[in-house]
Amino acid sequence: MRMVSLRDGCSGDWSRRRFLGTGVASVVSTTLARGLYAAGRERRFRLWATGDPHVGNDIRTGRGRSPRQSLAEAIRQSESDGGFHWDIAICVGDFSGHQGVPPESEGREVVRQFAALARHRREHFYCLAGNHDASPDNRWFRTWIDPTGEHTERSCVDPRRRPYPVQGTWERYTFRVGNLVFAMMSDRNDYPPPVGRIRDGRGFGGRPPGAVTVATFQWWKRLVEENQDAIVISAHHHVLKETTATSGEWEGMRRDPRTGGWRSGTHGYFPADGEHNKGAGYLYWLVDESQKPFHAHPDAQAFERYLAEHPGAIDLWIGGHSHMTPDARVHGRTHIERKWGVNFINCSALTKYHGGAAPMSRLLTFVDGSDEVRVQCYLHTSDFAPQGWYPPAERLLKLNQPFRAD
Ligand SMILES: [Zn+2]
Repeated sequence: MRMVSLRDGCSGDWSRRRFLGTGVASVVSTTLARGLYAAGRERRFRLWATGDPHVGNDIRTGRGRSPRQSLAEAIRQSESDGGFHWDIAICVGDFSGHQGVPPESEGREVVRQFAALARHRREHFYCLAGNHDASPDNRWFRTWIDPTGEHTERSCVDPRRRPYPVQGTWERYTFRVGNLVFAMMSDRNDYPPPVGRIRDGRGFGGRPPGAVTVATFQWWKRLVEENQDAIVISAHHHVLKETTATSGEWEGMRRDPRTGGWRSGTHGYFPADGEHNKGAGYLYWLVDESQKPFHAHPDAQAFERYLAEHPGAIDLWIGGHSHMTPDARVHGRTHIERKWGVNFINCSALTKYHGGAAPMSRLLTFVDGSDEVRVQCYLHTSDFAPQGWYPPAERLLKLNQPFRAD
C-alpha cells in the first residue's frame, strides 16, 4: 500500500490513530457529513480561522519558561472535551517566525505539530503562505505546508484525502463547500527587498508589506465574477488597506518620541525601504512577473479599487499578520470591519512570543438558509482574559446571500 508507506513519516497522534484500523479515515468523514447533513436539525458549517503560529519563535522564546507549541496546543484545545466542533480550518500563514529563510527543522516541527490532530485529518486544514514563510522559489512552504499535496511524503498532505478538493497551485487555489467558494492566496515575500526578503537564495530580514502577483489578482477577479451566485470567501495573509486595525498607512509603526523618526511597532521598520514601510500592515505590492525584470507596483490597491466599484462582490476577506489583543482599535478600526459590502476579519494570531499578546483564533458558524455568520473569538491562553471563548469580541455578520449547505 503505497499511500501508507508514504505517510509513515507523519508521526504523532494522527498516525497512531491510523493504526487503529483502516476505518479511521471513513469514520472521520462520516462524522463530518453528519455535522452538515443531520436530518431534522439545523445544518451548520463551522470554519475555524487561524493564523500566525510562528512555531519556531514560540518554542525558542518559550524555552526557560515553557517551550510553547503554538499550533499543536491550539489544535489540542479545539479537539478537547472543553473545545469546539469545526468542520475545516484555514491557517492564513506565518508558520515560520524567521527573518530570513526558514530552516528545514522548522518545517519538520510544523508537520509534527499538525500531527496533534486526532479528530481531523491534516487535510482538513487549508493553508496559505505569510511573509515569514518565504524562501527561494518558496520551496520551504511548498515542501512542508503544501496546500496542493506536491510533497505528500514530507508534508503529510494527500490531495486525495481533502474533504473538499482543491483546484489550483500552492500560490492560489480554490475549493467549494456548499455555496461557499474559497479564494486562497499566498503572500509573495520571495522577491528581493524592498518587496520581499530573498535575494540570490539568501534572506535579508523582515519586509512586512504584503505582495501578490498580477496573475493572482486576475485569477481572483475571474473566480469572483464566475461565482456571483455564491458566497465568496477570500483569504490572504494580509488584509486590504484601511479595513481592520493597523491596515492604514504607517499604522504598523510608531514614532520615536525623542527623534520623531519611525520605529518598529506592530511590524518591523526597515530604514532602507523608506516610504514602503507605510504598507507594513496591508496588502501593498502588486508584482507583474510578465515584465523582465519584474515590475512591482507599490501601494497598488487593485483589490480595493475592484471592491469599491463592485460592492458586495465577495462576502468575507480573512487575513492575519497584525498581532494584537482582541479589543484592539486603531484609528477607529477593530479586527472585524465591514467596507464595500465585505466583512474583513483579522483572525490572528496563535503565537504568544512573536510580537503576540493574546494567542487567539476565530470560529465562523454558517447555518443553512441563513444570511448571517456568527464569529466567535477563542483565547488559547489566559494572558489577556481566561482561556476559552471571549464573548466581548463576538460578532454577527451579514452575508450577501444565505448559506446553502448543498
Ligand atoms: Zn505576517
